[in-house]
Amino acid sequence: MSDCIFCKIIRGEVPSNIVYEDDDFVIFTNINPSSKYHYLAVPKEHYGLLSNAPASQDRVLGKMLLTIPKLSELLHLETGYRLIVNQGPDSGQEVHHLHIHILAGQKMEWHPV
Ligand code: 5GP
Ligand code: ZN
Repeated sequence: MSDCIFCKIIRGEVPSNIVYEDDDFVIFTNINPSSKYHYLAVPKEHYGLLSNAPASQDRVLGKMLLTIPKLSELLHLETGYRLIVNQGPDSGQEVHHLHIHILAGQKMEWHPV
């Protein structure tokens, strides 16, 4: 059992605003949003990096990408959104439990760095 912050959120040991949950992943609001609506989609299985995703996660990662757009109303995605996965020091990754950032609700500039 991992003591990482996202595992604790998934187990309900740390409070969060979970807006979606199924057997494979959760979506909760980011505590420090970078856009009007900023969610984190987080697989229930703990692994730190996209490049470390176990083969068993093929199905889950595909499901996450295909489910997010279906939650358009819930997540305020109607006028567009951006998905981001950070990996490693160059990206500024802070939490080493894979997550997809979902940014929505406003016009976004393109600032890759
Ligand atoms: P990273 O930089 O690792 O891609 O993003 C981690 C994100 O997790 C950050 O945007 C940060 O605001 C968010 N975060 C860190 N700790 C918590 C927490 O305890 N609760 C919630 N809801 N978000 C968190
Ligand atoms: Zn974890």
